[in-house]
This record gives sequence, structure tokens and C-alpha cells, in this order.
Amino acid sequence: MSRKPFIAGNWKMHNTVEESVNLIEGLKAAKNKNNADIMVAPSFTSINAVVKASVGTGFKVAAQDCFYEDKGAFTSQISPVQVKGAGATHVILGHSERRSLFGDTDEILNKKVAAALKHGLVVVFCVGETLEQRESGKTEEVIKGQLVNGLKGFTAEQLKDMVVAYEPVWAIGTGKTATPEQAQETHKAIRAVLAEMFGKDFADAVRILYGGSVKADNVDAIMAKEDVDGVLVGGQALIAEKFVRIIDYN
Ligand code: 13P
Repeated sequence: MSRKPFIAGNWKMHNTVEESVNLIEGLKAAKNKNNADIMVAPSFTSINAVVKASVGTGFKVAAQDCFYEDKGAFTSQISPVQVKGAGATHVILGHSERRSLFGDTDEILNKKVAAALKHGLVVVFCVGETLEQRESGKTEEVIKGQLVNGLKGFTAEQLKDMVVAYEPVWAIGTGKTATPEQAQETHKAIRAVLAEMFGKDFADAVRILYGGSVKADNVDAIMAKEDVDGVLVGGQALIAEKFVRIIDYN
């Protein structure tokens, strides 16, 4: 099954508007030789400027989160309607930093997915285990729970454009990358859970990204694995030359 590669950068809480636009200018050097979907996720404050700076590039622009209500008295929250209005087409939901630092539970994420889909945003749904969970042999169980509870109640048709990102918590920002074999093994397990939930055709078509200390030196080996369809990059997505090399992986 050939799936279109998907290379994504999560800028996290970095970059002013001006820095964001400069980064987009730098990314225009990418040849996109693998014909990948390329996505960037700036801070909310930079989304609109990044959308404008990306005209003609094909880059997809994502929010890093969104709330589940359309509007109302929810000081500081950003709704999917606002994300869309700013020009983004995608939204990352369930990033481990959202889960661990800001209280995003599976139940909340389920509501956020519903809200994002209602407004036609493509969801990049993140899952991943902590080091303790991996060491106690619970990786597959934890990830299954995140998928089953976060995505319950939706049909394959509703989720057909969704992208899943596997980001082991112990590999995020630590310089410790999962080996390509560990990524492959977990991606295969994720695909099996999605097959149980939504059927084999869905599972064969869904793109699963690996995230956690991806860099220019390890992207080629990770992308070579059968069930790895792309990467979700943090730190190295902030440096234009590095991310260009990742986009144009071998
Ligand atoms: P790093 O690439 O900095 O480890 O971050 C990964 C990540 O969390 C992307 O969402």
C-alpha cells in the first residue's frame, strides 16, 4: 500500500509573527522530492501570517490545539471556527504536552476531535507512552486506550483524512529517538488497533507519523520503515535548513 508521505513541523511555543514568516521563507528552498504533504503548526498568533506567507507553496497550516466549543465565555481558548477563519486547515490534537501539562484527557480530546471534524479541520491525532509505561511493557495497551477513547463514536468516513502521530513521550525533546524498529513495531500495532476500530481499508490508508527527536541524521532510516508514513518534528522544524533536509529525506 503506498501512502503519500506527510512531513510536519510542530513549532510549539516558538517564533513571533516575523520569525514565523521568515521560517516559511526559508522552507521554500525545499524541493519536496518525495511529493510529501508538508504541514507546519505555528502558534495561534502566527497562523494567519503563515497562511499568507505560504500561498503558492502547498504547505498546510495547522493549529497546535483547539477548544471544543464554537464560541462563548471561555477566556483564552481558541475555537475550531477561529482556527479555520485564520486560514488553517489542520489541527494537532492530543499532543503529549497538552495531555501532561494542560489536562487534555481522552474524554476532552474526544470532544475536541468532534468539534474539529464538525468544522472540516483535518485532525493530526497524537498518541504515545511514557518511559515508565514502555519499561513496564504497557506501550500497546496505553496507545490502544488513547485511540479507543479519543476516537470513539466516529465513523471511518468521518475520520478518513485523519493522520495519527506516534510520539513516545520519552523521545520528545530528549535527543533519544525510538529506533526505526521500535517505531515500526508500534506503528504496526497502531494500524492493527485502527483496523479493529474502523476496518482494514481504513487502517491500510491512514497515515501514521513518528515524532520524537527526529533530525536530518535519522529521518532517512525512520522513513524507510514500512508503517512509517511521515514525521512530526519539533526542535529541528524551527531551523529552516534542517527541516528542508527532513522534507527532502532520502
Ligand atoms: P522534538 O522533535 O523536539 O523531539 O519534538 C517532537 C514533538 O513533540 C513534535 O510534536
